[in-house]
Amino acid sequence: MIEKQRNREKYTFANINLLGKCNANCYFCLGKDIDELLSLQNQTQIHFREWKNFERFLNVCKENDIKKLYITGQNTDALVYKYFEELVEYLKTKGFLVGIRTNGYLAEQKLNLINKCNDEIGYSIHSLDPEKNYKIMGHRDFPNWEYIIPNTKPVTRVAIVVNRYNIDEFFDLVKYISKFDNVSYIQARRISTDTRYEEMEEDIKLYEELYNKVKNEFPKLRDFYSAEIFEIYGKEVCFWRTVQTTVNSINYFTDGTLSEEYFVVEGYLKNMNK
Ligand code: SF4
Repeated sequence: MIEKQRNREKYTFANINLLGKCNANCYFCLGKDIDELLSLQNQTQIHFREWKNFERFLNVCKENDIKKLYITGQNTDALVYKYFEELVEYLKTKGFLVGIRTNGYLAEQKLNLINKCNDEIGYSIHSLDPEKNYKIMGHRDFPNWEYIIPNTKPVTRVAIVVNRYNIDEFFDLVKYISKFDNVSYIQARRISTDTRYEEMEEDIKLYEELYNKVKNEFPKLRDFYSAEIFEIYGKEVCFWRTVQTTVNSINYFTDGTLSEEYFVVEGYLKNMNK
């Protein structure tokens, strides 16, 4: 197992973790760590005014001076949410900055909704090869990145989850993403798991080998919450090991679970049904 960084800084953001069914099927999905619990939940078609503890969550954010909220999915995608546009507008009227994390499969058709966000948009690009992408996320097709990224107005970042299928493609992916001027940085994420470490051990080992290569061959620019940022092909690439960073967040799950812990699976298990 990998030791978790327990010394965390002040909260800077909170996640709204949607629960439901995803339009992709990533083998490393963190939701699969506790699939037997999360697959019982689906709030993607339920108006947020009916989500349990949602107002309480927003009040906890205010009390902690949290300004940034990210709409994301624990086992689904943010853009699957039926009332996404209304939710973004509601959160903005409450004074929050709103960003999203999405796999991008619905981004082209919902670009006008994405552009209503006023904080960071996080896309994920794990491969540009249909067969590899199928192994990674169950899709041989791709979002239309050539259209989506240049037409995304808020600040954009792209995450690559480094894994056994895309490790040989990593630098090509960085090169491809680097051509988009409005991508502010790339996040090279190490797979994160609380319950499936043995299954993911190979991916984690490959990530560390890649990191060592980058550390030796590319200039380091700075640290960001204990994660190192390197310059590769003119873009900032942040090596992000979720459990070892010091950033901190509150997590709300749409079944009403409210966790004041950064670690999503651990926080969910401790706070569910409360
Ligand atoms: S897109 Fe996200 S929520 Fe959906 S399967 Fe992949 S990792 Fe899980």
